[in-house]
Amino acid sequence: MIDQPADRPRLLVVEDEPSICALLESTLRLTGYEVGSAGTGRAALAEIERSNPQLVLLDVMLPDLDGFEVTRRLRVAGNDIPVLFLTARTGLDDRIAGLGAGGDDYVSKPFSPEEVLLRIEAILRRTGARATAPEPEHTVRRYADLELDADAHEVHRAGQYVRLSPTEFKLLAYLMANAGRVLTKAQILDHVWNYDFAGDSRIIDTYIRYLRKKIDSFHPPLIHTVRGVGYCLRLPRKAGGGQ
Ligand code: CA
Repeated sequence: MIDQPADRPRLLVVEDEPSICALLESTLRLTGYEVGSAGTGRAALAEIERSNPQLVLLDVMLPDLDGFEVTRRLRVAGNDIPVLFLTARTGLDDRIAGLGAGGDDYVSKPFSPEEVLLRIEAILRRTGARATAPEPEHTVRRYADLELDADAHEVHRAGQYVRLSPTEFKLLAYLMANAGRVLTKAQILDHVWNYDFAGDSRIIDTYIRYLRKKIDSFHPPLIHTVRGVGYCLRLPRKAGGGQ
């Protein structure tokens, strides 16, 4: 069970294609967002009014009001909720129309969940509603047989000293501070490398590989890849139930 802080932002997914809607909902919940959904433009307006989410993922092609019209109505009503358009249209005119209608960014279909997460986090960061993972508070943090001493800058696994580089140490400290919770690559980049959204996330994969060689040469493995999303430090699930 993922431990979710109460202050994770609430998002609304507006999408009339059930499979895309379900994919987005499950991905966003997995990374700790509270998620609602709507299948039409009018339902979206009603849901935004009712639940006051912090960001809306808004499909452009909807059965009633299109995404641009939904956004225009929100802005006319004085609602400045950030809008991330989901669009099958890739033309520049559509992009301008979308941003002119008061949207904050857009992703073109087909998109990867990871790309959507990166855009969401970038918007939330810009609008100040960003979800921040908690900072380490304790000098010594333990998870399973892993122990990290922040003051001494030392890591032990199963009682054995593990030598880490400063970046590996910082990455492990961040994973341990959020043990059991999936961290997106954007969160990791931002926290460990202080990069903005444009940073190259492949550096994370490289350092995760270094860290695995040192930390997960022991058993069981603790660093897990969550495909299309990011990484999670936790004990393995039962065989067959892994991700
Ligand atoms: Ca649609």
